[in-house]
Amino acid sequence: MLENIKERILKIAEKAENDGLIRHGSGNFSMRDEETGYICITPTGQDREDSDIDSILVIDIDGNIVENKKGLKPTSETLMHLSAYRNREDVKAVCHTHAIYSTIFAVQNKEIPPVVFESMMFGGIVPVAKYGTPGTTELADSIIEPLKKSDACLLEKHGVLTVGNAIEEAYIKMQYVEDMAKIYLYSLLLGQKEPERIPQSEFDKVLNR
Ligand SMILES: [Zn+2]
Repeated sequence: MLENIKERILKIAEKAENDGLIRHGSGNFSMRDEETGYICITPTGQDREDSDIDSILVIDIDGNIVENKKGLKPTSETLMHLSAYRNREDVKAVCHTHAIYSTIFAVQNKEIPPVVFESMMFGGIVPVAKYGTPGTTELADSIIEPLKKSDACLLEKHGVLTVGNAIEEAYIKMQYVEDMAKIYLYSLLLGQKEPERIPQSEFDKVLNR
């Protein structure tokens, strides 16, 4: 069931691996089917090379397994994905990775401010969700507040999460966050001080054009 969505998730997971945003099966991806409300989600602890369309599981909003062709386990971060869907009706897809530059700021518990125009993609800043042990409801709950102000958040000491209206859109945001983290890090190093933020009035000008 939902083969089309599974195919799209698999494609994005492969792309993320090729783009260097995930390695050795880290990171996880999911997308919600509008009609059934079911969620297709990547399995835990499986290398991307060993994954095919049948590796993607189908679960419901309570985490019950609806379809599991290969007898795998859904990602250990399933609770976090479900939390994004439960708390944001508009969210149709979730990406989570340990992308290096974003994770540097997650380790430092430092949000990424709007220093380039791409940050309009998420709502200005990339906030940090307070630390929660991976795989727990503590982590799942930690993303609720940050996701109220942004479509992207860092997970303290852990990684980064983005949401979108489709898996492809959520993944583009992931790429942008990683690029922004890189730009911000080098700006901090080169300038040896906080770079100036782009004011909201400038964003408004661009948005209204
Ligand atoms: Zn993780």
